[in-house]
Amino acid sequence: MAKFVLIGSGLAGGLLTAYLGRRGHHVDLYERRADPREGNIVGGRSINLAISTRGIHALEQIGIGHEALQHAIPMRGRMIHDRSGELHFSPYDVDPKKCINSIGRAALNTTVIEAAQRYPNVRVHFNHKCTGVELDSALAHLEAENGAITAGGDAVIGVDGAFSAVRNSMQIAIGNFEYDESYLAHGYKELTIPPASDGSWRMEKNALHIWPRKSFMMIALPNPDGSFTCTLFWEFEGPRSFSTMKTDQDVRRFFKEEFPDAVPLMPGLLEDFRNNPTGSLVTIRCAPWFYRDKTCLVGDAAHAVVPFYGQGMNAAFEDCVVLDECLQQFPENRERAFAEYFRRRKENADALADLAIENFIEMRDKTASKTYRARKKLDHALEAALPGIYLPLYTMVTFTRMPYAKAARRARTQDLLVYASLLLIAAVLVAAMIWLVGI
Ligand SMILES: Cc1cc2nc3c(=O)[nH]c(=O)nc-3n(C[C@H](O)[C@H](O)[C@H](O)COP(=O)(O)OP(=O)(O)OC[C@H]3O[C@@H](n4cnc5c(N)ncnc54)[C@H](O)[C@@H]3O)c2cc1C
Repeated sequence: MAKFVLIGSGLAGGLLTAYLGRRGHHVDLYERRADPREGNIVGGRSINLAISTRGIHALEQIGIGHEALQHAIPMRGRMIHDRSGELHFSPYDVDPKKCINSIGRAALNTTVIEAAQRYPNVRVHFNHKCTGVELDSALAHLEAENGAITAGGDAVIGVDGAFSAVRNSMQIAIGNFEYDESYLAHGYKELTIPPASDGSWRMEKNALHIWPRKSFMMIALPNPDGSFTCTLFWEFEGPRSFSTMKTDQDVRRFFKEEFPDAVPLMPGLLEDFRNNPTGSLVTIRCAPWFYRDKTCLVGDAAHAVVPFYGQGMNAAFEDCVVLDECLQQFPENRERAFAEYFRRRKENADALADLAIENFIEMRDKTASKTYRARKKLDHALEAALPGIYLPLYTMVTFTRMPYAKAARRARTQDLLVYASLLLIAAVLVAAMIWLVGI
């Protein structure tokens, strides 16, 4: 059995360690932060996330689906809040049982780490920050409380997120390493809607709430304690942007104008706005994701995407399943396993990156329009009329495990067919009317 050094015990790091541990590999997992069970909350990132079919499948494969999802809250559709405070509910799928789930990041992180620690061949080391990797010798350099140490194994796997130190070492060492990072002009800030005095939710609990406002938006996901975590996605710069919010009065006025129905539910708005960080939104594409049989990248370290399809973690979990399958397929040839994993995932990660950016425009702008709601109804009608033949893009991405690139291609073909059919029907109707008028 091989010895793996994993860097980063975030969502994918914990899960991948459990998968490797189950195969009998020896794993040393190093995390720069303290143990999340000691109350260390992952700062600056989303407090809750939407988990769907791909992520749930990955948890179920290792036997922790039920344990992880016990406190998750199903969200059956989008609740759109327009400027006048009017609500429109748009279900995610024609099948009301298909929903995405709001899950707490910290609790999920703890669940995957504990799943990994059930294997005696796994060791987890918190407060160890990786500063670099020597690729040829699979040696990781780490800063710990008592000074610098090195950790060696047969391979080092970087599961250390969007600003990966392992990827950085690959970038320096591999001559033709491709790397591209692009930031949105928008940042995000988390705010809170606390529970009602009786502990209940102050808005519909089983929905993902959206306040679409064309160039920006706010969303809210429910938490088990009755609260909602809101995220405002807004331009960093511009005449009306994060940068122009100089005083509490500016913030209050902006929220009253844009989100009037949310303001009475947010008693801590001004404090949250002042104290919570404004995060940036990055897409990272790189290649290759491996170096010989020595180093490999998984999750955001390989492919960070913007969060608008709610798929970054789901995709990272899917990476773990695929890498596990590849290591099983080529037990004697780890380089081949890494190469096969990269081949199977890269095209799909790139497709997801594009889909996630496109969905930002859909969420912040199109969800407010009547045309969008009509299109969703048409999608659902076609899905019901042509089961298994017509699948809306959102359904393929969220409720199936169809590769992302295939889903994107299939959606484009479906769109062409739908528009061509609508044109044909319109042409036939016009021809019929001309004929009737002629009579
Ligand atoms: C606002 C927002 C909302 C999101 N919502 C969703 C959603 O609804 N659904 C969804 O599927 N995804 C969502 N995502 C994406 C999701 O958060 C990521 O895709 C997911 O966290 C990736 O997991 P990971 O393990 O690869 O990286 P991370 O979760 O970032 O974990 C990386 C770990 O590595 C550690 N680390 C970093 N550097 C070092 C180092 N040098 N040495 C040691 N340890 C290190 C970090 O401390 C961390 O624990 C969202 C992201 C954001 C920003």
